Amino acid sequence: METNNTSIPAERLPRKHSGADMTIFSVMSMLAQECGAVNLSQGFPDYPIDARLMENLFEAARKGMNQYAPMAGLPALQLEICAHVTRQTGVACTPDQVTVTPGASYGIYTALATILQAGDEVIILEPAYDSYIPAIEVNGGTVVPVALQPGTFAPDWQLIADRISPKTKAIIVNTPHNPTGTVWSTADWEQLYQLIAGKQIYIISDEVYEQVIFDGVPHHSVWSHEGLREHCFAIYSFGKALHNTGWKVGYVLAPADLSKAFRRIHQYLAFSVNTPAQGAVAAFMAKQQVNDSSLILEQKRNYFIELLKDLPFTIPYISKGSYFQLADYSAVSDLPDTEFAKWLTREAGVATIPISAFYRKGSDQRLIRFCFAKKEETLTEAVNRMKARLL
Ligand code: PMP
Ligand code: GLN
Repeated sequence: METNNTSIPAERLPRKHSGADMTIFSVMSMLAQECGAVNLSQGFPDYPIDARLMENLFEAARKGMNQYAPMAGLPALQLEICAHVTRQTGVACTPDQVTVTPGASYGIYTALATILQAGDEVIILEPAYDSYIPAIEVNGGTVVPVALQPGTFAPDWQLIADRISPKTKAIIVNTPHNPTGTVWSTADWEQLYQLIAGKQIYIISDEVYEQVIFDGVPHHSVWSHEGLREHCFAIYSFGKALHNTGWKVGYVLAPADLSKAFRRIHQYLAFSVNTPAQGAVAAFMAKQQVNDSSLILEQKRNYFIELLKDLPFTIPYISKGSYFQLADYSAVSDLPDTEFAKWLTREAGVATIPISAFYRKGSDQRLIRFCFAKKEETLTEAVNRMKARLL
């Protein structure tokens, strides 16, 4: 993958991680803007959020919720989250297990900062969300990447077992999965449990798309697994469930002792999270228990997949959750994926994400990722533009 890692001289600033200086999401969104392209790259909705949420935000500010919130989160929001977790998982949850965070990436970073000592190993399953590797490395950990199986993106349990060592401190799981749209079953969680039972290995479970899941497939949280719950940090982001990625409000669910350790770090990083946004989300959750984000996004996935049938792409795996659909472009071009994504942005006017960005060593499988969390007219326009250039 193309990076600009040499832009800051090493003698001026040591590099703390091996990630790109600018994430692929910024690179492609900027290129989209520059080229006037339809932006199906970075994962964010282009449709409006629920009007009640906007009113709640104004109301919270008007009521004077404008000063620091308590460090672990607004109590009203923590209680709503506890009720939500219990409904979702059938497992009790108390506020000492919930810490509100400024988004999920922060939650992942802070969970790693909480547990890692220099030299600890962390297993990630590739393709993996791009913040994991820098967050591990900045906190002194060593990344141990394990590839998901080509085509199905299912975990290869033997490969994972082979990479577990006495230095393994944590495994990062992501379900529903960005970028592939795969979803873990209870059998997957049980397999993982069998591999780590009796060992002091933490699970960081990135479940930001728990409420963006399709075809009636249930979301299985790490919190539902009795054996794993004691060793987990489960990570969530309201940005996905409420379509407001820019609010950057999320939370981390962990047993009380781990939450206490997490807060030891959190109180010296962000300390607390945007008070009126917490108030707005709490008020929204109090009134509306059923979230329709899965339904809205499933319709968009179906609409987009139908449109894609007119294009010379193949779909390796139909997304079962998340904002994203992968497509194989090998029938169209021999270019490496990053070059192809840039070519498609410039030449067809449609921006996507190359999947090599989700690998430490840039494995190129001629795959790009489309974000379908968009208005139908945006998706139609993108496909029309690609038809005009590719057919
Ligand atoms: N994890 C995954 C898998 C994601 O796709 C994202 C981005 N939406 C995040 C974490 C980060 O979420 P947030 O914007 O809440 O930091
Ligand atoms: N999670 C978003 C994606 O996968 C990107 C968020 C970001 O730009 N950091 O597209």
